[in-house]
Amino acid sequence: MGDHRPLFEFIDVKREEPEKQVVEVRKHEFAEIYRSFKQPGIKEQSSRCIDCGNPYCQWKCPVHNYIPDWLELAAQGKYVEAAELSHQTNSLPEVCGRVCPQDRLCEQACTLNNDFGAVTIGQVEKFITDNAFAHGWRPDVSKVKAQPYKVAVIGAGPAGLACADVLCRNGVSVTVFDRYPEIGGLLTFGIPEFKLEKEVMIQRREVFESMGIEFQLNTNIGTDISYESLKSDYDAVFLGLGAYKTVDGGLNEGQTPGVYKALDYLIGNTNHLRNYKMADRPYLDLKDKTVAVLGGGDTAMDCVRTAIRQGAKKVMCVYRKDEQAMPGSRKEFQHAQEEGVEFVWHLQATSVVLESSGSKATDTKASDIKTSEVKGLVCDNLKTQQSVELACDAVIVAYGFRPSPPDWLQTSVELDDGGKVVAQEQRGFRTSEKGVYAGGDMVRGADLVVTAIADGRKAALAICEDLEVPV
Ligand SMILES: Cc1cc2nc3c(=O)[nH]c(=O)nc-3n(C[C@H](O)[C@H](O)[C@H](O)COP(=O)(O)OP(=O)(O)OC[C@H]3O[C@@H](n4cnc5c(N)ncnc54)[C@H](O)[C@@H]3O)c2cc1C
Ligand code: SF4
Repeated sequence: MGDHRPLFEFIDVKREEPEKQVVEVRKHEFAEIYRSFKQPGIKEQSSRCIDCGNPYCQWKCPVHNYIPDWLELAAQGKYVEAAELSHQTNSLPEVCGRVCPQDRLCEQACTLNNDFGAVTIGQVEKFITDNAFAHGWRPDVSKVKAQPYKVAVIGAGPAGLACADVLCRNGVSVTVFDRYPEIGGLLTFGIPEFKLEKEVMIQRREVFESMGIEFQLNTNIGTDISYESLKSDYDAVFLGLGAYKTVDGGLNEGQTPGVYKALDYLIGNTNHLRNYKMADRPYLDLKDKTVAVLGGGDTAMDCVRTAIRQGAKKVMCVYRKDEQAMPGSRKEFQHAQEEGVEFVWHLQATSVVLESSGSKATDTKASDIKTSEVKGLVCDNLKTQQSVELACDAVIVAYGFRPSPPDWLQTSVELDDGGKVVAQEQRGFRTSEKGVYAGGDMVRGADLVVTAIADGRKAALAICEDLEVPV
């Protein structure tokens, strides 16, 4: 690609991010907090890239995006070409631009990071696809030669969608099955709208449908359709079921009124906002409550910020280590701080204190879970070895997720001791069962959107290889 960039732009032009919505407004709305870059800003920020001969950003990116190349196109205002290029390596670039922890991946690895400020790769990635879609651009599959094969993808999360995208672009017919009413998996039902607005996934479904991918939503494999019938009706099956078993906090969460599991809380909130009907995920309203969220990862940040937006009186994040040890994105931690979340370090929750009167967990109908019976959280201080009690009336446990393979899978494909499907990257994510492939959280354990995308794409290439489809 011809190089037109001024060499020392990064000295004169400082790293900038688009404006964020002011805290007093964003605390009350479930909407993305970043405004979009304006075009001059995008060009200037993209032109800061010095096109390192050995682009560390690209190596660190799990899908190895052609970052310096699309930055150059964006610097020239060629956004459609940039979107075209970014889709060659990534099936959901507008999503990655919004939710990837760039501060731990491409931007951390950027040569300019330490002394001048990394190029704002994530925000440019988001802009170029949003802009191209807004101008009517769609991936062109009109010249793809149809192949006589069909593949079933179970799970419309990022792993399944990426697999379907690559198969479709190589002429293979794909049907994606999901038990939920919309595509996206955790992108739609886990990650809240202040990080990723749901219209982004609706638009992406329409784009995939226009390419020819078929979706069968509200369809639970194992009950509505059997796994065995998929295997006999399709030439290959890709498993992208995610990891949904919550790490136990030892507080009888989900049973004790007032003590909730993180994903129940987040999914209930999304269903309430989007009016999806899911009886098993009731809406938990934490308005005027004092809330303690346990954990220090991305899920915990999503819970504390959701509680703030619901109008909680006070929101604490209780973590057993300190700020430096937090596993989630720095950026999301900062957003939570800005929005008024209190961080309490070195505390490990051991039990909850309940009101002496009131109904037991078993008396509470799902639709009634509005009032809590918790009045405190007992923790061990891991620094001072003393016990402390935090006054609160709701507790959310966000300690993470483990693989949750359904029964029908446990008797067919090989799983490891932790329940992960054994499917190695070096083997193209082929499982122990011929014609069955797997990727994303159910193979890695709870991880990232971009790693799930990487797995799905690689598995699709292995499927093409096994079906002898030219790529
Ligand atoms: C609250 C939260 C916040 C997160 N924030 C971030 C973030 O900011 N950045 C980031 O990179 N990662 C984040 N992650 C992690 C990321 O969302 C996951 O790593 C990623 O979604 C995994 O993709 P997947 O396709 O493997 O699974 P999932 O996204 O879980 O999708 C699996 C799909 O399979 C479907 N399914 C399961 N069983 C069946 C069945 N029997 N029949 C039909 N369908 C079925 C499910 O309904 C679901 O749609 C977050 C995770 C959570 C929980
Ligand atoms: S590491 Fe930074 S400066 Fe180098 S190519 Fe990547 S974005 Fe550009």
